[in-house]
Amino acid sequence: MYNSHGSDQRHSGGGQNRFGQRSQAPRQMIQGNWQCSECQAEITELPFEPDGVRPILCRDCHRAKNANKPRRNF
Ligand SMILES: [Zn+2]
Repeated sequence: MYNSHGSDQRHSGGGQNRFGQRSQAPRQMIQGNWQCSECQAEITELPFEPDGVRPILCRDCHRAKNANKPRRNF
C-alpha cells in the first residue's frame, strides 16, 4: 500500500475558470518598411499585415481618418 501525499485527493477537474479572464492578447506588430499613402511618412510597423490592396496609413493619418469617420452621435 503506497502512501499518497494527499495531492491526488482534491483534483476537481474543470471547476475553476481561471482562464477566460485575460482575453486581451498583446497585439502583434508586423515589422517592415512601408510608406503612408497619405503623407508619405515612413512606416516601420503595422498592427496588421498589408495585403497590398488597401492603402497603408501611418498612425497619424489612421487616427485622423478615424476621427473623421461620421458617427451617429446626437
Ligand atoms: Zn500618414
